[in-house]
Amino acid sequence: MIHTSNKSRIYLSPPHLSGNEIKYIQEAIDTNWIAPLGPNVDAFEKEIAQYTGANEAVAVSSGTAAIHLALSLLDVKKGDTVFCSSLTFVASANPILYQGAEPVFIDSEPETWNMSPEALERAFVEAVRERRLPKAVIVVNLYGQSAKMGEILAICHSYDVPIIEDAAESLGSSYKGKLSGTFGKYGIFSFNGNKIITTSGGGMLISNDAESLKKARFLATQSRDPAPHYQHSEIGYNYRMSNILAGIGRGQMGVLDERVIARRSIFSQYYKELSHLPGLHFMPELKNTFSNRWLTALTIDEQAAGVSSSTLLEALNDENIEARPVWKPLHLQPLFKDVQYYSHKIDQSVSDELFLSGICLPSGSNLSEEELLRVTECIKSTMKVKV
Ligand SMILES: *Cc1c(COP(=O)(O)O)cnc(C)c1O
Repeated sequence: MIHTSNKSRIYLSPPHLSGNEIKYIQEAIDTNWIAPLGPNVDAFEKEIAQYTGANEAVAVSSGTAAIHLALSLLDVKKGDTVFCSSLTFVASANPILYQGAEPVFIDSEPETWNMSPEALERAFVEAVRERRLPKAVIVVNLYGQSAKMGEILAICHSYDVPIIEDAAESLGSSYKGKLSGTFGKYGIFSFNGNKIITTSGGGMLISNDAESLKKARFLATQSRDPAPHYQHSEIGYNYRMSNILAGIGRGQMGVLDERVIARRSIFSQYYKELSHLPGLHFMPELKNTFSNRWLTALTIDEQAAGVSSSTLLEALNDENIEARPVWKPLHLQPLFKDVQYYSHKIDQSVSDELFLSGICLPSGSNLSEEELLRVTECIKSTMKVKV
């Protein structure tokens, strides 16, 4: 998009380094560990396992790769279906296609914007009727907010179907005191440049099943059989994380809790400035959950607000402020046009509503107070509210 402002750009969620990353990178260089794997990778994996309380963690090249490995470990293949949240980034579902399987998309519910237990139950009832239970369910914690994991786990347990928790956006969040990423058989994190902490690019697969994560390491390093020559009996991937990038991750782990506090504080400041305006509704935080507030998201009720979400987005863009619509639901994507979809209610699709009315505001942990005011003033003046 073009903008007309000569003011400096405010990004949605830029990287925020701690300054300690260079120490770990330097160590890697000094010891010539310029390879995938190495001491930084081992240490970063241990730190994530310790932080989340998972038994084991495997560092990989991206969050997408982690989801792909999880599906592969669960033996998802051609002819299988996988249930997946619809309101998410395409990376949640692409690995289902890599495996030749079919996604089935599940709508959101209004209280968390995440997977609707009602829609999930309906999808299961129909799957049982068709004798085609899914191989796995991928549950996303959007913008840091945990899904209704209690209800979702109960449903999945009753059908004996494993969960992959896509916690790419929710590292540091918790649900009823338990940390995000630890609810399913597998959990995944992303360290892409826009996430709450970053390795520039990277991901992590976590599980309490340490044995199966040995298999993940095997798959992620080209499935090399234990033999002195290069021997391979099954398909493999080159998915391991570089020791240099893991060094960035170690530097970032040291400030993860600070980053969560900063993002939550940004949310609070937006809330204070904007929540009283007519028609603006912030993404809720479910009782007994703690969101890292990766992105501050809100919906605009055009009738009450007098402006539409797209008008607000244009106004922000004109001020050189990067704001975005809420993810376009995957069931609306051309890529998935023939995919089955279960809406929250028979006659209500919550993710469609959120997509039409929702926007994400600049939420980087390094956003200054002055920048935040530029955002809120732009919104207020577009809504013709006196500032
Ligand atoms: C970022 C993200 C991913 C993918 O992570 P990458 O590291 O970019 O591959 C997956 N799911 C969600 C919900 C994400 O936001």
